[in-house]
Amino acid sequence: MTTTAFIGLGAMGGPMAAHLARAAEAGGGRTLVWNRTAAKAQAHAAQYGSEAVSLPELAQADILFTCLPTSAEVDAMLGELRPHLRAGMYWVDCTSGHPDAALRQHAALAELGVKFLDAPVSGGTKAAEAGNVTMMFGGAAQDFEAVRPHLAFGGRVVHVGSVGAGFAVKAINNALLAVNLWATGEGLAVLAQGGVNLGAALEVINASSGRSNASENLIPQRVLTRTFPATFALGLLAKDTGIASDLIGQHKSSAPVLAQTAALWRGASRVIDPQEDHTAALKLIEQMNGVTLT
Ligand code: NDP
Repeated sequence: MTTTAFIGLGAMGGPMAAHLARAAEAGGGRTLVWNRTAAKAQAHAAQYGSEAVSLPELAQADILFTCLPTSAEVDAMLGELRPHLRAGMYWVDCTSGHPDAALRQHAALAELGVKFLDAPVSGGTKAAEAGNVTMMFGGAAQDFEAVRPHLAFGGRVVHVGSVGAGFAVKAINNALLAVNLWATGEGLAVLAQGGVNLGAALEVINASSGRSNASENLIPQRVLTRTFPATFALGLLAKDTGIASDLIGQHKSSAPVLAQTAALWRGASRVIDPQEDHTAALKLIEQMNGVTLT
């Protein structure tokens, strides 16, 4: 009987932990939850059958999942949990974290006999709710295999390399999202200035080679409708592009488009509220061009 635990019941972590609780109910295990705002953990327990517990109790789990904004919050949790962790347990960090932090956290936990895997997720809140997030794992192959049967919220699950590789793949994936979203926004602003109907333009682009998730889903559903539903914060995407930029620096890569993208998103998260949805960055393109993307 496996006991799983989850820290960070946010937009992603809440539904992911709910799938763990459902699997535990079906399989006879337990799912322990903890959240900084304790009321959210209690509500989660009431709704999904997880158990809201204290941090020392939580550290008794066999597999501990974290899904926090950045690696800095994971570092802080590690500090608080350190006296309570048990040798032999696994710490699976689903935060979109920093590869350098993964190496540091892996080393700190190894001293306690705890195995660390970086395992960020993609697919957004829809995939978290459906229980089929894509997961990219960095860490030892045998540790990946040990936790794999317990990923009730996972869909496609891929071991991408050693510790830190999962965070690196996630950062580059999100840098590509940022490039596509930004570039498509620029393209549509140009078309809007020329008086072209943007719905018609997107219909063509989405049947042509310029299409992306940004053109097919994000912009028509969130920007043209002016709804900008806050499911993935602009500040978090700026953080991800910043991690990609750090990797470019570390490897002395020649990646000018990705590097520029990080700078653009850093600026956008200052000008636009970083708590807004990431698609709200296109409001900056609108300001730069004196148009509204409708
Ligand atoms: P949310 O802001 O919705 O949730 C953040 C969670 O972290 C909350 O549970 C929050 O607690 C907790 N938290 C924040 N600060 C602290 C702290 N200092 N100490 C302890 N707990 C803290 O974020 P998301 O769920 O959107 O994102 C989580 C991670 O997943 C990020 O790394 C993000 O980049 C990544 N991600 C997000 C996606 C999305 O579509 N939203 C998609 C894929 C990855 P509290 O309730 O108290 O605020």
